[in-house]
Amino acid sequence: MSLLKIFRSHVRLTFSVCIACAVSSCATSPEGRSQLKLLPDEQIDSMGVQSFEQIKQQTPESKNENMRAYVLCIANAIIPQLDEDNNPASWEVRVFADDQANAFALPGNKIGVYEGLLKFAVNQHQVATVMGHELAHVIAQHGNERVSDQLAAQAGFTITAIALGTSHTSDDNKALILAGLGLGVQYGVILPFSRTHESEADLIGLGLMASSGFDPRESVKLWENMAKAGGQPPEFLSTHPSSSTRIKDLNARMPRALDAYSKAQAKNRKPNCQL
Ligand SMILES: [Zn+2]
Repeated sequence: MSLLKIFRSHVRLTFSVCIACAVSSCATSPEGRSQLKLLPDEQIDSMGVQSFEQIKQQTPESKNENMRAYVLCIANAIIPQLDEDNNPASWEVRVFADDQANAFALPGNKIGVYEGLLKFAVNQHQVATVMGHELAHVIAQHGNERVSDQLAAQAGFTITAIALGTSHTSDDNKALILAGLGLGVQYGVILPFSRTHESEADLIGLGLMASSGFDPRESVKLWENMAKAGGQPPEFLSTHPSSSTRIKDLNARMPRALDAYSKAQAKNRKPNCQL
């Protein structure tokens, strides 16, 4: 690309982003990182809800009642710790009959856990680690940010229209939004969470599970199990900080998490979910 072109596209991008910020929110993540958020929350939430319905149609629910009760027990310990902005009263949790070691959470208050996860996450604390991580992507609005970054990168895109909610969402944009929500594989657009998002989700998730009364030290053991398991990496291992970086970062945050854990215990938050 010529220098002039680079300059032009840079100016156009900067201009688009400025307009976008003027009409929508340039937010700050729970970890204090500034984020571009172009899409209205309602649009992201409704895409999350629609996607969840679609996954429910494609993947059967687990018939294993014990697994369903176990996952629900863990979710019911974590969800009330979400702040009001994340509607703790209205989450839907479903266990899917599928062997992949994976889980996801979607805007619009949806959590999905695949049966296969329970082979690797071997106790309630480890399942809570994954659930906390997935919820953290939603809490920190990583989906909106990812889509916004992609849109901003397509300099000619009608960012202002989207930000104002006046754009009719084309199929291409729909695919982009779905990919932004972490469902790209299903829709042919792979947009993995960035290393920054993964690290942030680890730390926010660690705080969340600890303040729900789960032992944060089990998070490190989970990443060790997952690293050993190999195979197709699940969402929460897919791109990312290497296991050693991840474990180092978790350990650095551990004193704060242990403090949250003991405060939760003092408030009698002592989940006892068993499979
Ligand atoms: Zn993740």
